[in-house]
Amino acid sequence: ASQILRRTLGSRYLANARAFSSASTPIRATLFPGDGIGPEIAESVKQIFQAAEVPIEWEEHYVGTEIDPRTQSFLTWESLESVRRNRVGLKGPMATPIGKGHRSLNLTLRKELNLYANVRPCYSLPGYKTRYDNVDLITIRENTEGEYSGLEHQVVRGVVESLKIITRQASLRVAEYAFHYAKAHGRERVSAIHKANIMQKTDGLFLKCCREVAEKYPEIKYEEVVIDNCCMMLVKNPALFDVLVMPNLYGDIISDLCAGLIGGLGLTPSCNIGEGGIALAEAVHGSAPDIAGKNLANPTALLLSSVTMLRHLDLHDKADRIQNAILNTIAEGKYRTADLGGSSKTTEFTKAIIDQL
Ligand code: NAD
Repeated sequence: ASQILRRTLGSRYLANARAFSSASTPIRATLFPGDGIGPEIAESVKQIFQAAEVPIEWEEHYVGTEIDPRTQSFLTWESLESVRRNRVGLKGPMATPIGKGHRSLNLTLRKELNLYANVRPCYSLPGYKTRYDNVDLITIRENTEGEYSGLEHQVVRGVVESLKIITRQASLRVAEYAFHYAKAHGRERVSAIHKANIMQKTDGLFLKCCREVAEKYPEIKYEEVVIDNCCMMLVKNPALFDVLVMPNLYGDIISDLCAGLIGGLGLTPSCNIGEGGIALAEAVHGSAPDIAGKNLANPTALLLSSVTMLRHLDLHDKADRIQNAILNTIAEGKYRTADLGGSSKTTEFTKAIIDQL
């Protein structure tokens, strides 16, 4: 199991990551427990890190109750400063408060910290049976623009307009990251996912940038796949894909599809990569308000995200130990949360992992 994961998340996410202090000195990392199930699954991470003696000192930040004018959202300026200072962190899910006059918390984080690539590994978990046992994919999602630029307005009554922004700069940056990632992790192929047959200007520019970067990496195979066909191929045979790179909205959707292939949103981790060496890990899923506060959430996705953070810090021994404990617990099958067909509470599952450490 550990071999699968080393291949998936085996080395630092960034070529220019700073050297973090040695394992004997505690490393400060920012923690956003987040909303809904966030605090429950963040507690699971904290307990497991403590049991595994991980040398991390958490700087915890909560979403504010009032809009901070400096961020124009409920995220406090201090929390952003904490990530900028530590350059590494873990984020629980954040619900998007409904209302006007403020930005979505996730959008604020991505824009303010320039988190330009979101890396979403998805692989079959040993011992947990789904229709496939050979899923091993990396979705790399452009994280700062596309349909999520937040530029929407009413043209006239009954007609609204939403702008999709694609820039050469952001497209080259995420494509470069995808190829760099593929090379660094021994991956063979990068597929650019698009709808350039219809969105000729926007997705056309995205593809042009991917092609430009592909030429610099002759050792990596490059292909282009239309998004609708990609969905069909993923459901029929996910082994056809390796690393997938795509604009923002497609990445959001495709990664949930991929989560469905291996057992659901409770299992899939991610890591946001920012300029200046920032790595902010988070689960792919949201705040799951339907099960929040009920001790039912599966903490695996956030735990595996925290493992990506440890790998980014070169704390591979700790990462292996925690990862194996999670995978062994799921494979043994005695303790599984409800989303995986079990009856364990979040806290029981957490304890079972600690017993496996
Ligand atoms: P969701 O991911 O929160 O939930 C979808 C379904 O998956 C629900 O049935 C939920 O119970 C289940 N689920 C999700 N995570 C689970 C886990 N760890 N264990 C067990 N079951 C789990 O999606 P949603 O309901 O569309 O969104 C809820 C809120 O989360 C919204 O406010 C949305 O904006 C926000 N959201 C935030 C992020 C983020 O912070 N990155 C991502 C997606 C959605």
